Amino acid sequence: MTLFSDLKLDPKVLKAINEAGYTTPTPIQAQAIPYALEGRDVLGIAQTGTGKTASFTLPLITRLGRGRARARMPRSLVLAPTRELAAQVAENFDTYAKHTRLTKALLIGGVAFGEQDKLIDRGVDVLIATPGRLLDHFERGKLLLTGVEVMVVDEADRMLDMGFIPDIERIFGLTPFTRQTFFYSATMAPEIERVTNTFLSNPARIEVARQATASETITQELIELDASRRDVAAKRKREALRAIIAQEGEKIENAVIFCNRKVDVDILAKALTQHKLDAAPIHGDLDQSVRTRTLEKFRAGELKLLIASDVAARGLDVPSVSHVFNFDLPSHPEDYVHRIGRTGRAGRSGKAISLMVPADQKYLEQIEKLLEKTLPRGTAPEPAPVAKPKRAQPARKAAEAAPAQEPEQEPTAAKEPAKSPAPSNTSRKAPANARRGSGNPRNQPRREGQDAVVGMGDHVPDFLMREFRVA
Ligand code: AMP
Repeated sequence: MTLFSDLKLDPKVLKAINEAGYTTPTPIQAQAIPYALEGRDVLGIAQTGTGKTASFTLPLITRLGRGRARARMPRSLVLAPTRELAAQVAENFDTYAKHTRLTKALLIGGVAFGEQDKLIDRGVDVLIATPGRLLDHFERGKLLLTGVEVMVVDEADRMLDMGFIPDIERIFGLTPFTRQTFFYSATMAPEIERVTNTFLSNPARIEVARQATASETITQELIELDASRRDVAAKRKREALRAIIAQEGEKIENAVIFCNRKVDVDILAKALTQHKLDAAPIHGDLDQSVRTRTLEKFRAGELKLLIASDVAARGLDVPSVSHVFNFDLPSHPEDYVHRIGRTGRAGRSGKAISLMVPADQKYLEQIEKLLEKTLPRGTAPEPAPVAKPKRAQPARKAAEAAPAQEPEQEPTAAKEPAKSPAPSNTSRKAPANARRGSGNPRNQPRREGQDAVVGMGDHVPDFLMREFRVA
């Protein structure tokens, strides 16, 4: 067995690893670090949870130990597809480099340019960035990439999904061809293969096992729901999910619930919260500060259900969760593997439950083909009971009490109203501002168990109440 002390890492790095409590390198670390320290390019085919971040950060710090940064010319560059991932790499760097004097800057959207500009002006050893933001800085003339000795591309498959490959190619072109490159991807799509063939020089190719095949500790289950109409399907899925959550009860310590679209992440988070469940959304359109706060709460065990899109969740450094739910089956089968890999880590048991409707059949086929097995089928428990208001109430009160019920209309996402799923018949008839979720109870569609509002209820305009005399 390899030990960290066998790996010729800088003693300052070894000290930090020791303090972080790591005893032995993970397989990707044991294999990649010796090549990286020899100066070879590394192509790592590994997904998150394998320890891949340390597999490039540790040799990077060791290599940069000698030499000094020059103004505006970072000595190394780490590219990550999302802000969260970039921020996580930065956190990792801080942990492992804490006994060195190396400096870093983080260039991500949602963080003001000014501070980062100052750091870069002074000179940084490690620049961690998302591709778009990096190019923004470059185009503003704030940055030179000709001093880059090491370049890291993390989660290239996700970069491909997000359309960043042209940016990555451009950035490669701006760095010296003598640089050392570490390139990580969970899968090797042809487009990624092409990029690695073009920009990596005789790389050491290191592949670590897929989690789905490696982890026997995940119990998987597929619940088939019989709902073909799209508007009905979403409601059925929400009911089924709530029933499953109720059935699993205390067994759920914490869970990530995946949706395919950002808008559905918002809708689901809202619906679950309305049912008094401890849930919050995370996706790329949310403010950076909100995302960070949500993630911190989830990590600290102060939030039970994290509703996430793939992009936001990919590579998030959250502890192993007890449950993963696929509210939607992913359209890329690899994402299924990524998603369920959030549970059952480090030998602990975990449960992954997926919901599907007939329209998802093609996705299921792809997933089962990739896994080379049929997912065990389960049945949806009876829908969780819905709390109804105790007695008929006046319009305003009933509207306030309504959140305890399944809303008749889709709760609408704040940022992407145009992309909302087709509203139900009821909401299509409702006034426009009711569809937008206006807080005015007069504009809400009527709900089950609510007294019918006759005429204008409490809200008769003043001018109609004014006295008048008949001549
Ligand atoms: P990553 O695959 O880089 O996202 O890392 C997954 C998690 O494993 C992170 O929380 C790391 O802090 C942790 N980790 C990385 N290397 C080791 C190691 N050698 N021993 C124990 N934990 C590790």
